[in-house]
Amino acid sequence: MRSIFVASISVAGVVFAGPAGAIDCSAPEHAIGLERIVEVDASGGPLFGAISKQQKEPTFLREKEVVLTFDDGPSPWVTPRILDTLEHHCTRATFFSVGKMAVAYPVITRDIIARGHTLAGHTWAHPRQLPKMPAKRAQDEIERGFAALDAAAGGGIAPFFRFTGLNDSAPLLGYLQDRGVATFTVDVVTDDSFIADPAELTRVTLARVVKRGGGILLFHDIKPATAKALPAILEGLKERGFKVVHMRQRKAYVPRQEFVAGYRDKVAANLEKSPYKPRLMPFYGAISVLRQANAATPLNAQSDLPVAVVSPAPRDRRLLKRRSNKKKSSKRRAKPPAEQEVLPWKKKRALPGGEAPAASPEQSPAASTTSWRHIGPHPAERAAPYIQ
Ligand SMILES: [Zn+2]
Repeated sequence: MRSIFVASISVAGVVFAGPAGAIDCSAPEHAIGLERIVEVDASGGPLFGAISKQQKEPTFLREKEVVLTFDDGPSPWVTPRILDTLEHHCTRATFFSVGKMAVAYPVITRDIIARGHTLAGHTWAHPRQLPKMPAKRAQDEIERGFAALDAAAGGGIAPFFRFTGLNDSAPLLGYLQDRGVATFTVDVVTDDSFIADPAELTRVTLARVVKRGGGILLFHDIKPATAKALPAILEGLKERGFKVVHMRQRKAYVPRQEFVAGYRDKVAANLEKSPYKPRLMPFYGAISVLRQANAATPLNAQSDLPVAVVSPAPRDRRLLKRRSNKKKSSKRRAKPPAEQEVLPWKKKRALPGGEAPAASPEQSPAASTTSWRHIGPHPAERAAPYIQ
């Protein structure tokens, strides 16, 4: 068995050999690498990241730590290049992938997991405003997204979710909590949806990360500029003393099987016609040729990394739901709780540098995901008692 596996790597390597061939990640002085792993117990339905008006957890990141996240893929034109770059830099990321895209490109979806990254949900077809949809339809969008990822990846997806356009709501967070899902917004928006010049994207991203002191970074693995800029961004982060933290799930998500069954045939057909046809291995399932091409890089070279387990106690999301209903009916503007960060577009005068924030996605439904900027202060060293 072993000899067959090795042989298949060398054959594939001739065709697909990427930049990762000679990388030693056991001592990655040349690269940003990984600082530590944060293992998230999603069972309490926590919400992480600064940009949300809902009740959220304190950050689990220390000063000058970043988490890399990529939304809206997988894309055959962008995602493989990003995966190669991440591997070349011995680092890992979380991919909030769209179900429909994953079913269309199951080999790339499998490659994300095979290369040690985290695969998380971002709906089935990326509707812009989940909170404005009928509750059942919004929940189905979420569930179908996870089910499609599961079918495409062959299992192993994280119970992590990111709202499209970062448009969340207390009732949907309550639903995600019931399903044991952790939700992630972002701390630093890179604006890679709008910046097509890789040099400019690098400059803007690094400036924002430096200004905020780190955080959860939002990129999109459907944008060619992102793939082109990523090497310089990772090098720039390393030069400035930033460290990458990898998030991973404690347990895989258990999707609705009736939805998963609906995607299996389509996934099988797309695996069959993919130019990167995976090789079926006994006991291991399908291993993608892309992964095989880079299999010389030991996935577990940094297995001695420190692991922090994050398990926040569940919040009462139903209480928040009642509050938001009350607010709506009385048409009064509720004051945000003291510990909650005020959204950037709500505090025009408090913004440093006098930069006027753009309209929020809610104020302007046509506004895109990243049309506004987060320039708030780093949530400095708040106690995070859930970290074990
Ligand atoms: Zn998105």
